[in-house]
Amino acid sequence: MIAGARRMLSCHFTAARLQRYLDADPSAPLDPAEVPRLEAHLAECARCASAVEDFRSLRWAMWRLSARLRPDPAAVHRMHRVVDELVEGRR
Ligand SMILES: [Zn+2]
Repeated sequence: MIAGARRMLSCHFTAARLQRYLDADPSAPLDPAEVPRLEAHLAECARCASAVEDFRSLRWAMWRLSARLRPDPAAVHRMHRVVDELVEGRR
């Protein structure tokens, strides 16, 4: 996975620009004119296309991990109930 990203660094499209493209980060947007150029480049540069796939896989894995780490709503509800009972002196 990382090999593609490492290879891409020798290309003129940097990893940071590819990530900005993937994130569509409103705080650091790509120049709108750069998007079609980058997409055309991805269509013909196997190294950058591979790096984009690597970044997408990594982002997907991180999203799945963060979704798994999100607390169970039922457990949060039980904790709130316990805290309410403690505050009200019922425990
Ligand atoms: Zn490239």
